Amino acid sequence: MDRSYTRETKLVQSGNRRDKRTGAVNAPIYMSTAFEHTGVGESTGYDYARTGNPTREVLEEAIAELEGGKHGFACSSGMAAIQAVLSLFSQGDEIIASMDLYGGTYRLFRQYWPQWGVDVRYVDPRDLQSVEQLIEDNTKALFIETPTNPLMQEADLQALSNIAKENNLFMIVDNTFYTPLLQQPFAFGADIVIHSATKYLGGHNDIVAGLVVTDDEALGERLFNIQNGIGMTLGAFDSWLLLRGMKTLALRMEKHQQNARAVSEMLQKHPLITEVLYPGRGGMLSFKVQDEKLVDPLLRHLRLVTFAESLGGVESLMTYPSVQTHADIPESVRIKNGVTNELMRLSCGIESHEDIISDIETALEEAERKIQA
Ligand SMILES: *Cc1c(COP(=O)(O)O)cnc(C)c1O
Repeated sequence: MDRSYTRETKLVQSGNRRDKRTGAVNAPIYMSTAFEHTGVGESTGYDYARTGNPTREVLEEAIAELEGGKHGFACSSGMAAIQAVLSLFSQGDEIIASMDLYGGTYRLFRQYWPQWGVDVRYVDPRDLQSVEQLIEDNTKALFIETPTNPLMQEADLQALSNIAKENNLFMIVDNTFYTPLLQQPFAFGADIVIHSATKYLGGHNDIVAGLVVTDDEALGERLFNIQNGIGMTLGAFDSWLLLRGMKTLALRMEKHQQNARAVSEMLQKHPLITEVLYPGRGGMLSFKVQDEKLVDPLLRHLRLVTFAESLGGVESLMTYPSVQTHADIPESVRIKNGVTNELMRLSCGIESHEDIISDIETALEEAERKIQA
């Protein structure tokens, strides 16, 4: 594909004009584990589907192209993508990560990696001085989520990657929330970009998938060996579903963003809401209700927005981070970090913003009535 096309065009055209034999506009789903060799040492380029599958390859090229990287890797989940990247490190290595991290990433870092001797230390990535102070001889990488989840704080990727370069660290960015449409970490000097494609890239609350991209040849080779060696690859059918979802990302993102802006304006004026956390772009926002007792009746009275634990899909979902996504973070740490018991997170879908707003307003009214009764 022409490299000069916009991201919007690249998204829509991914997989088109690839199947020379049939001219299929959509990438075919290659449900084949094995590929014939015509003779010893001869191959079509495909041997065995864990190592390479033509459908997965279309997806991997598409995400590399979108992020402006060289090599893409499709994994069975966002967590598998993070595990693949963490597998680059070895015993004695240390990683510095964002403090306000996706709960599952925090759990993986806490419960799994210490047994392999890889330590993770946490910092507020907006505090550049503290980031620098934490760096030691064995520090190998910065692992940054921006905006953070659920507090929606943005980090300065350029400043962080300058620190990474000066100290010979890899800069790893989880770009799940903004997607390559709103943020391109390689432009700021990142080395590796990770996605939970379960969220915006897939966009339909129907598949679990993860993606890794690097713009570095040597890292690409190492990541290929990890992906093929461990086998956390995404299947052909799910690769195709993800490609299909990605084609409409630009349209969806625009609507997610419009809705999030409209909902955050309503919440800012609402008497039962004490704080709205919305960075001004993207489809995610968080807010604090006046009283923890409002939370349960609010969630029970939602009729349109679903009380469920994911984000980035066409359907609006509301999450209660302290008992859902962030339950594995010790309470004192969680509250100190700002993930209080009054905090709610909303993933604005692409329904009409009037309907989303009226649903939340009505549920808040009913919740207030309930706690006054
Ligand atoms: C969901 C999520 C993950 C984990 O991805 P899965 O696809 O659920 O495994 C990682 N990082 C962020 C920011 C997420 O939102």
